[in-house]
Amino acid sequence: MARYRDALCRLCRRESEKLFLKGDRCYTDKCGVERRKYPPGQHGQRRRKLSDYALQLREKQKAKEIYGVLEDQFKRYFYMANKKKGITGSYLLQLLECRLDNVVYRLGFASNRRQARQLVLHGHVTVNGKRFNIPSGLIRPGDLIGLNDVSKKIVVIEENISKMEHRGLPAWLEMDINELKGKILHYPSRDEIDLPVQEQLIVELYSK
Ligand code: SF4
Repeated sequence: MARYRDALCRLCRRESEKLFLKGDRCYTDKCGVERRKYPPGQHGQRRRKLSDYALQLREKQKAKEIYGVLEDQFKRYFYMANKKKGITGSYLLQLLECRLDNVVYRLGFASNRRQARQLVLHGHVTVNGKRFNIPSGLIRPGDLIGLNDVSKKIVVIEENISKMEHRGLPAWLEMDINELKGKILHYPSRDEIDLPVQEQLIVELYSK
């Protein structure tokens, strides 16, 4: 599958805001957005006024970059959300939040979603007690997310969990820190999703 392989900080600089794609580094003064507050590239420092279409496109790109999802898959999430009754934008974010790699990140097993994706792919994560290695797998309320016994002793994971207090746990998740097991309490509502994205603009873009 195609993957974005260029510098991650360029993505944040393109959106002119922190997308927290690198974990701990994002909270230091080494952050790319802090150091260079203009978009990347030869014409990055040029001032320009964005059209409505460009604003909608940027919001969509931002959501894709945050969750590490490519265009086709993102479109599929939109169509799934569009079929439901209610606010399409909120459903879209709910679907993205319920991806297994995102839940692993939110529970604090990984310092960023990329790392979470890797943990899942390498078979460290279990869902309801069984190994599950599909990062895009959608998690439902009541599901238990844990780690294999061997994986619990991996230094990187231990370090991530020790920093969890500082990051905080979303209200739709519950964590048993002794057992290293998380539970999905309910589907996240829009106010429980802490994300700098105006999802309405994405809906407008795809509805053209
Ligand atoms: Fe974005 Fe993190 Fe890089 Fe800062 S350090 S630019 S928040 S990925």
